[in-house]
Amino acid sequence: MSFEPTCIFCKIVRGEIPAAEVARDADALVFRDVNPKAPTHLLVVPTRHVTNLGDFATKAEPHEIGKLFALAAKYGREASPGGYRVVVNEGADAGQTVFHLHLHVLAGRPMRWPPG
Ligand code: AMP
Repeated sequence: MSFEPTCIFCKIVRGEIPAAEVARDADALVFRDVNPKAPTHLLVVPTRHVTNLGDFATKAEPHEIGKLFALAAKYGREASPGGYRVVVNEGADAGQTVFHLHLHVLAGRPMRWPPG
């Protein structure tokens, strides 16, 4: 499995720094965002290091991408059956600050549109 030693999410995957884990298997980890923007704010990450969605889309098998979205849907629905939001920021212009692919799952409050 690829691992980037300076990547904070790789360190979380490997248990080198703590996180509030919700679910884990060989391919994916779900944990709580340390600075939540909604009553429920989860991050869904692949366990292997992939910088962003574009890289993942070209390098990963389709089922790997599907698995991340399936997890986002499972925990989003669970937290907020009336609706939730899944966000992926790619690149600095979109606000990406951690360069290990992650799906934000935001739930538990009304969401405005369009996002800022
Ligand atoms: P983004 O700006 O899309 O790259 O999102 C990165 C997210 O990672 C932000 O919402 C941060 O609050 C979150 N984050 C950064 N460090 C940690 C950490 N150690 N544990 C949990 N979430 C983190």
